[in-house]
Amino acid sequence: MGRTVVVLGGGISGLAASYHLSRAPCPPKVVLVEGSERLGGWIRSVRGPDGAVFELGPRGIRPAGVLGARTLLMVSELGLDSEVLPVRGDHAAAQNRFLYVGGALHALPSGFRGLLRPSPPFSKPLFWAGLKELTTPRGKDPDETVHSFAQRRLGPEVASLAMDSLCRGVFAGNSRELSIRSCFPSLFQAEQTHRSILLGLLLGAGRGPQPDSALIRQARAERWSQWSLREGLETLPQALNTHLTSRGVSVLRGQPVCGLSLEAEGCWKVSLGDSNLEADHIISAIPASVLSKLLPAEAAPLARALSTITAVSVAVVNLQYRGGRLPVQGFGHLVPSSEDPGILGIVYDSVAFPEQDGSPPGLRVTVMLGGSWLRTLEARGSVLSQELFQKEAEKAAATQLGLKEPPSHCLVHLHKNCIPQYTLGHWQKLESATQFLAAQKLPLTLAGASYEGVAVNDCIESGRQAAARVLGTEPNS
Ligand SMILES: Cc1cc2nc3c(=O)[nH]c(=O)nc-3n(C[C@H](O)[C@H](O)[C@H](O)COP(=O)(O)OP(=O)(O)OC[C@H]3O[C@@H](n4cnc5c(N)ncnc54)[C@H](O)[C@@H]3O)c2cc1C
Repeated sequence: MGRTVVVLGGGISGLAASYHLSRAPCPPKVVLVEGSERLGGWIRSVRGPDGAVFELGPRGIRPAGVLGARTLLMVSELGLDSEVLPVRGDHAAAQNRFLYVGGALHALPSGFRGLLRPSPPFSKPLFWAGLKELTTPRGKDPDETVHSFAQRRLGPEVASLAMDSLCRGVFAGNSRELSIRSCFPSLFQAEQTHRSILLGLLLGAGRGPQPDSALIRQARAERWSQWSLREGLETLPQALNTHLTSRGVSVLRGQPVCGLSLEAEGCWKVSLGDSNLEADHIISAIPASVLSKLLPAEAAPLARALSTITAVSVAVVNLQYRGGRLPVQGFGHLVPSSEDPGILGIVYDSVAFPEQDGSPPGLRVTVMLGGSWLRTLEARGSVLSQELFQKEAEKAAATQLGLKEPPSHCLVHLHKNCIPQYTLGHWQKLESATQFLAAQKLPLTLAGASYEGVAVNDCIESGRQAAARVLGTEPNS
């Protein structure tokens, strides 16, 4: 009998892990267990009555770097090349990003010349922040909050406007709590290796072997900033499911795992309520805090470390307007916490992907709400009604973008605990988890957004690396 690997969680991380296991020359038996009836986790695309696509979770994937290329390679292997909608480098959605500060939209400067010009809301050209960065000594702490790192290296304005907004845009989080080392490892590493972020970016980390395919070459030649899929990003988990089933992977849906126990022979019993599975190895691609509640008593120290990796909630409000016009063209804008604690930002979906506007086309924007405002409401036990989020989102679209007419279509979703927070010292939690797993020789591998990156590319990579570890192959090949 061959080995059985059970993968917990049918989000993109668990699907990617199963994909790479199933493509091994001598694949183990793979069982993917998903608690809900649908695969894809936070990746979810729905269609409006006019055929427009509304993304409830991620809406764009970055092609840059080795991880971006690996995802594109998988897209090609799944036969999805003709479905890809790129945002090319010369497009407004690739070039323009905005901050909403002091009641107005401000374009973020781009290119070297942009750094020399006055660029409100910053009081001085960003060149001066760059000069400060180049002359600031290397930090000595093993970790630092994003805010403290940015303030030390780039000054208080960049920290409280740009980095605060970036943390809200990527993590829906607070830059004064999030860790630079874990949230933006390339910035942390650049300082460690080159003493300066700018020098690090100029000198680069050195390029390892890059995957290659016609799609990857096209993305490079056209300088794509991101891409989606014609019918929405949910096409990706759907294609993975079809591929896995064709490769003999058992995909179980609607089967939440409710407990894990270790058998005498060193294998796992995976409890699904009224039935059990046996596994020689488990890849967990469910949130760390969920896994912490399923682990057996023997793994209590691991459960304790995982339980401290918490997540925040985000309300996603998709709005569509008939005849509405945006005041600017770009990817979207972010809102620093000092401007509005509740609105994280607005994405101009129609600018990046007009192909998804439906027929007749309508203007689509997505308002993201979260941050300290939502945390306070949650802590107070307030009623988090659809009406409340819709009202706040419409108000933001009206004041920040001038979209004053009522929307023709609106979708409201509150995603509870959807974005893990890598707070100060996150790396120590990962280290103690890794040490425990190695010392106890537990046949368990961790993957997913809870650990080393929340972007779709990071999650796919975490699944690939988990599969490589289980297969005993080199994860970086
Ligand atoms: C609103 C939003 C917008 C985003 N935008 C972007 C973007 O534009 N670009 C980008 O790159 N990234 C974006 N992200 C991040 C990215 O989408 C997520 O980090 C990623 O999809 C997480 O994938 P995952 O598989 O690790 O986790 P999940 O998607 O959380 O999947 C985990 C799965 O495990 C299942 N599960 C949980 N408990 C159990 C159990 N007990 N038994 C069995 N199954 C269980 C869940 O049902 C779920 O399907 C966004 C995220 C959100 C929430």
